[in-house]
Amino acid sequence: MPFKIVTVLGARPQFIKASALSRVARQSDRFSEVIVHTGQHYDENMSDVFFRELEIDAPRHRLMTGGQGHGAMTGRQIEGVERILQDERPDAVLVYGDTNSTLAGAIAASKLHIPIAHVEAGLRSYNRRMPEEINRVLTDHVSEWLFTPTAAGEKALAGEGVDPRQVFRVGDVMFDVALFFADKARRQSGILRDLGLEEGSYCVATVHRAENTDDPERLQAILSALAQLGRELPVVLPLHPRTRAVIARTGIALEAGDALRLIDPVGYLDMTRLLQGARLVATDSGGLQKEAFFHKVPCVTLRDETEWVELIDLAWNRIPRSLDQTGIDAAIAEALGSAPVQDVMPYGDGNAASAIIDILLRGRITGPTGVMPDQG
Ligand code: UDP
Repeated sequence: MPFKIVTVLGARPQFIKASALSRVARQSDRFSEVIVHTGQHYDENMSDVFFRELEIDAPRHRLMTGGQGHGAMTGRQIEGVERILQDERPDAVLVYGDTNSTLAGAIAASKLHIPIAHVEAGLRSYNRRMPEEINRVLTDHVSEWLFTPTAAGEKALAGEGVDPRQVFRVGDVMFDVALFFADKARRQSGILRDLGLEEGSYCVATVHRAENTDDPERLQAILSALAQLGRELPVVLPLHPRTRAVIARTGIALEAGDALRLIDPVGYLDMTRLLQGARLVATDSGGLQKEAFFHKVPCVTLRDETEWVELIDLAWNRIPRSLDQTGIDAAIAEALGSAPVQDVMPYGDGNAASAIIDILLRGRITGPTGVMPDQG
């Protein structure tokens, strides 16, 4: 019998991360994967496009839990996932990152005593006001296998008393995906032509994190700074549905006309092509900070802190001293004037997914009760 996992996912970055493991899993007859889509993201351009482009198996189970508050969404996800796990009876449950779907998958599995594998374990912003931070901390502490992408993640888990036998620094699955699809994006995406952009002379920006969208003053400052930049360097901003809704609701003023190009969210290949040709990335996305680095583009992170601290240390990424227009303008100017050297690779060698599968196939680390066997 192959080792059976149920992968619980529901949000855009999770589809992207999951594609790496799904591809490797399909090639092994010792491993089988069933995908559960919680429906946290459900639009064509936030969900389906990724399954198609990244060749992820269609979900066997789909819940509809999107568009609700944290409590209702997570509660319904736990309920739905629990039912599915009782039916599927997998050897392990796999969850990615830090969304409500991650936490729901982890809670449902832990109550059924099914061991959990957490990919992207150990990431910390040390900001407990972020829903993502709560989701990751709780998920890590009920997981059997903690697959961390970075040295900082490994250190954070050690500091929280996690048994080192459960922690595996395997590299970042997003790097696997970036390497795998880089050529295809160059060949197939026509987005630069469609948007009239010139290679090396535009900025790609994204803004969607609650700490920015829930604070109209802060969102206004970010958009004004991007609009200001847009007068010199075209800025393309694929708008997350949450941000679009907030702009519409609050009537935030958008200046700069054509210089700030607000477009709908794009698929992975178009996004990768946009990144490959960009002069600058400005973002509050976790994934984009790393992708900027993979594609050798300097980055400004539109947040007060980041989990991806190694990129700050490498001066590849910078955080504005203050998240107002002056602070953001200064960080952008600094990034545009910088010439960092990319001579280290803190995210592994592009084989994180294979490493994860190999480790899972070795079986449980704790005993059948979930308790560490005596080292005696
Ligand atoms: N992304 C995309 N299209 C977009 C915006 C982002 O394909 O319009 C990709 C991006 O390249 C990255 C991932 O989505 O791989 C990041 O997801 P998001 O910013 O939603 O979440 P986070 O990384 O902050 O958890």
